[in-house]
Amino acid sequence: MSTFQAPKGTYDLTPPRSATFLAVREAISAPLRDSGYGYIETPGFENVELFARGVGESTDIVTKEMYTLTTKGGDQLALRPEGTASVLRAALEGNLHKAGNLPVKLWYSGSYYRYERPQAGRYRHFSQVGAEAIGTEDPVLDAELIILADQAYRSLGLREFRILLNSLGDKECRPAYREALQSFLRDLDLDEETRRRIEINPLRVLDDKRAEVQKQLAGAPKLRDHLCDPCKAYHEEVRALLTAAGVAFEDDEKLVRGLDYYTRTTFEFVHDGLGSQSAVGGGGRYDGLSEMIGGPELPSVGWALGVDRTVLALEAEGVELDLPATTSVYAVPLGEEARRVLFGVVTELRRAGIAADFAFGGRGLKGAMKSANRSGARYTLVAGERDLAEGVVQLKDMESGEQTAVPLAEAAAELAKR
Ligand code: AMP
Repeated sequence: MSTFQAPKGTYDLTPPRSATFLAVREAISAPLRDSGYGYIETPGFENVELFARGVGESTDIVTKEMYTLTTKGGDQLALRPEGTASVLRAALEGNLHKAGNLPVKLWYSGSYYRYERPQAGRYRHFSQVGAEAIGTEDPVLDAELIILADQAYRSLGLREFRILLNSLGDKECRPAYREALQSFLRDLDLDEETRRRIEINPLRVLDDKRAEVQKQLAGAPKLRDHLCDPCKAYHEEVRALLTAAGVAFEDDEKLVRGLDYYTRTTFEFVHDGLGSQSAVGGGGRYDGLSEMIGGPELPSVGWALGVDRTVLALEAEGVELDLPATTSVYAVPLGEEARRVLFGVVTELRRAGIAADFAFGGRGLKGAMKSANRSGARYTLVAGERDLAEGVVQLKDMESGEQTAVPLAEAAAELAKR
């Protein structure tokens, strides 16, 4: 193992690719910020208990994938594997739901950790941007979130994604379905672990990726046929709102998702260019989660979009984001005196809000001009002894190649004007 190797299942974001990640985070959060969602940041770790109770003791995320640790003080912590439980915990702790303004709408962006088998698009450290709307049961809210995610992906130029939609029912109708499903599943030819899953969380069996399991599931009872009238009406309303907004979706009754807390609306954004790790984002309604972690009844809905997979989706579609060059002006000093003078100009430009960089290390003209080119700067400022003696700097337009001598004192103002 090399000292310079990132841990298995992780990778570093470095320029220039890292700029795309920043742009994706920005693009996903922009529609949220414009829609009344406030920014929330929570710790990278929580008490293990929160995820065990919130995400669910029978889920892979909790039983197999959580990075847990015991602190020197004896606290049992886990690196966060997802965002919703933490955000709800923080909202409850901060009494945000009591400020008299429901729903509490929050967005977040950060690192998440799951001890998974690494493969393309699946990492042990990954980034999500997420949104949660806490404390209100209203199909318009479910639709809003799906529409905002769709808007975010479209603003990035993505086209080859699909929205899968389902309803998981609620505490009125799901128990009866659960029982019907369990008695169906108990008669199948399944391995020990899956048999255990039937007793703990039978809906997850529907999500089994193995072909030999899927084959046996053909005649399984359908949740759709068991939804109670309020759940049916709610789901129809969400569907109608999406249709009215021109957001296409596919009904997918197999969509159960890997977390226990979902009720009613569930959805996933999948991208067809990503191979097996095709889910770029997902979410749904979690009306029971607050009570599961010891809070009051707070029906809520949210989603999380994966930044890593969104970047992979952009690459798969060949979408190049139009990222403006970060540097507008590049200064190339020739000689000691020019270094001091041009660095002064660069500082002045930066203070005036003009992005400027500098050829450090006293390099020759040729190497420095190469760096100027690479920086993408529209203008370079070059000055040598003779220029300084005449009180000017050479201002070169890198697009047209045109070069003019500008009085030193006016260089910053001239660039600001251009
Ligand atoms: P989930 O909470 O599992 O629904 O995840 C939401 C989104 O986060 C997924 O659609 C992915 O885009 C992303 N994601 C989840 N797990 C991973 C992972 N191990 N590596 C990369 N992205 C992930």
